[in-house]
Amino acid sequence: MEKIGFIGLGIMGKPMALQLKKAGYEVSVLDKNKASKELVAAGARSFPTPAAIAQNSDVVITMLPDSPEVVEVVSGKNGVLAGIRQGALFIDMSTIAPATARNVYAWMQEKGVEALDAPVSGGQTGAEAGTLSIMAGGADPAFQRALPLLQTMGKNIVHIGGPGAGQMTKACNQMIVGMTIQAVAEAFTLARKAGVDLEKMREALLGGFAQSRILDLHGQRIIDRNFSPGFKIKLHRKDMNIALAAGKEFAVPLYGTAQVAAHMDALLAQGKGESDHSAIALLMEQLAGL
Ligand code: NAD
Repeated sequence: MEKIGFIGLGIMGKPMALQLKKAGYEVSVLDKNKASKELVAAGARSFPTPAAIAQNSDVVITMLPDSPEVVEVVSGKNGVLAGIRQGALFIDMSTIAPATARNVYAWMQEKGVEALDAPVSGGQTGAEAGTLSIMAGGADPAFQRALPLLQTMGKNIVHIGGPGAGQMTKACNQMIVGMTIQAVAEAFTLARKAGVDLEKMREALLGGFAQSRILDLHGQRIIDRNFSPGFKIKLHRKDMNIALAAGKEFAVPLYGTAQVAAHMDALLAQGKGESDHSAIALLMEQLAGL
């Protein structure tokens, strides 16, 4: 079995690394801010730098917030590039800009290392259950090599195309998720103000054409007033930026995406960047005078 190095043990990374450990892989871990007690207790080894992780791994996986963190971890001092061995495989599972993913791919190629961008969808619950949807970009042999370990973390694993294709797909995913949350938040705000029972409304709509994972999970969050992350607004706003930049690059007007991004900006201005993205409902309620 390949030796795995896993960098970034946040809301998503920790349960994903635990899935690999559970499946029997030898796993080394690193996070800049968090002690990885749970993983070490499960038998994972801990190393102090990305270079040290890479030296001790056949496959290096990153699950970091954004492009700058991935660039720092890969190419910074004592970064992955300083330790990774020829013939190793690098998989970035964070959501970052497709252009950054293509740069990382090129840097890895110079070292004789294959690379995949393999961002995920399915949230914390999907990470904990090992049922993420994974959208991969890169060469086919690298995808085939990665498949057994991706299958420990995900269920629906699709090789989309070449380097950056996974990230472009994920940007589209985030547009749909953001606009669906907006739709659920608006509908729930109207229902609340009109005196409709939200629990009963959610139950009825889940059996019809408006059914979605977001109506299910985020609808329940709105009912429960549970806005702890989950997926932080500041991270989803970063993804909307990636989508908007792609819209500009390819001359595609993205009206809905731009509007949801502006709502996220309002929440960031109110200091709610660490809240779950379902907190868009709070803004809709404020605007409605609730
Ligand atoms: P998070 O903020 O909970 O975790 C990120 C982790 O990276 C943190 O523990 C942080 O300490 C660590 N980190 C940051 N810089 C580092 C560095 N230089 N070296 C080592 N560790 C570093 O974020 P998350 O929710 O786990 O999301 C991670 C990625 O997955 C993001 O790109 C996000 O957009 C994406 N994503 C998140 C979800 C979700 O529901 N949370 C779902 C799909 C995709």
